Amino acid sequence: MSDETPICSAKGCRAAAVWVLAWNNPKIHAPERRKTWLACEEHREHLAQFLGVRGFLKDVVPLEEWRAREESRP
Ligand SMILES: [Zn+2]
Repeated sequence: MSDETPICSAKGCRAAAVWVLAWNNPKIHAPERRKTWLACEEHREHLAQFLGVRGFLKDVVPLEEWRAREESRP
């Protein structure tokens, strides 16, 4: 992720993202792989539900916490 303000991944939304949705499609991704979607407060639930019904959703983390995790990774 860049230092620029991240934008929500929802279609047509230009709001600043505050959540990271980590997901994995077991048919095409290795189990430890994490794809990420960004979400604003308004779209977090919608995007989480989209991934959830497909069984892809692994984690929903505040953006700040996600960045802290990335930085602390060896
Ligand atoms: Zn949004």
